[in-house]
Amino acid sequence: MKYLIAMLASFLAMTASIAMVQAADDSPKFAIVIHGGAGSSSSDEEWNAKRKVVLTHALETGTEMLKTGRSSLDTVEAVVRILENSAYFNAGKGAVFNSATGHELDASIMDGRDRSCGAVGGVRTVRNPISLARKVMTETRHILLVTDGAEKFADQFNDDSQIERVANSDFSTEHQLKRLKKAQANEMKNEKRSDSDKMGTVGCVALDTHGNLAAATSTGGLNNKQFGRIGDSPIVCAGTFADNQTCAVSCTGIGEDYMRNAVAFDVSARIEYRGDSLKKSVHGILFNPKRQVRGGIIALDKNGNIVMEFNTGGMSRAAADSSGRSEVHIGK
Ligand code: ASP
Repeated sequence: MKYLIAMLASFLAMTASIAMVQAADDSPKFAIVIHGGAGSSSSDEEWNAKRKVVLTHALETGTEMLKTGRSSLDTVEAVVRILENSAYFNAGKGAVFNSATGHELDASIMDGRDRSCGAVGGVRTVRNPISLARKVMTETRHILLVTDGAEKFADQFNDDSQIERVANSDFSTEHQLKRLKKAQANEMKNEKRSDSDKMGTVGCVALDTHGNLAAATSTGGLNNKQFGRIGDSPIVCAGTFADNQTCAVSCTGIGEDYMRNAVAFDVSARIEYRGDSLKKSVHGILFNPKRQVRGGIIALDKNGNIVMEFNTGGMSRAAADSSGRSEVHIGK
């Protein structure tokens, strides 16, 4: 009898602990990953500390939004706006200069529910290009608007506080002007600088508690880029991709590498067609000796797995999820 009671007690305890584990597993999952651009890592401690403060604020804002049930689409837009408004990242304020000492900004956003997406390229007066990209997605039948057409499209939203207009010089910072002058002086001397010195971009991918993925990327492009050049960041499937069936991706690096290799889409395709894990997929692209893809990738799959990888000297990055993970890294 004693034996039977003991058996029953241990059976009940086991059932209770299984139920507890199931309850924990059933709690809605969310995850968020952010990058502040790949490239060489800076040894300027003060600069790094300032970047860390902004990245931490962006991560906390995004995490709070997801925790309270907001959509991944709203979250990636809000996070990228924070980074665009900061002078310490190459997007919006703080963007690199092009060869004509001006700023041309590129951005894209994608909704993993139905692959709807929007993008802008070469915009000059829109404070938050990512929000204009979202307007292209929701208010037009197109995906990408560039230069004057994008500016004219933005005129329709003069009453919308999300689409604030500024002078092109408002994006300028001393830091980026110094970088431009240095790059141009090196060009004159015919000295080739490392490609890592040209980079920087911001991006965010998120999985919300409703199971939806989204991705957003925004950039000033490459330092000293030719006037009129558009990179991978506003090209869906190159710099940005999201599909609820596979993953959400945001890229940073030499845009031409990412465009010719359709990198963001390739991350998803490797999962869909070959059954690769998210990590294997990203590694297969960034560390493939047969291909040149210089930069970094952040990605998140439908199960909340997180990948942040780069083959450059560093990549500022941050991640958090519903299990309590929360981390911010600057540089290496
Ligand atoms: N991918 C961006 C571009 O080529 C730059 C970067 O990510 O650093 O425009």
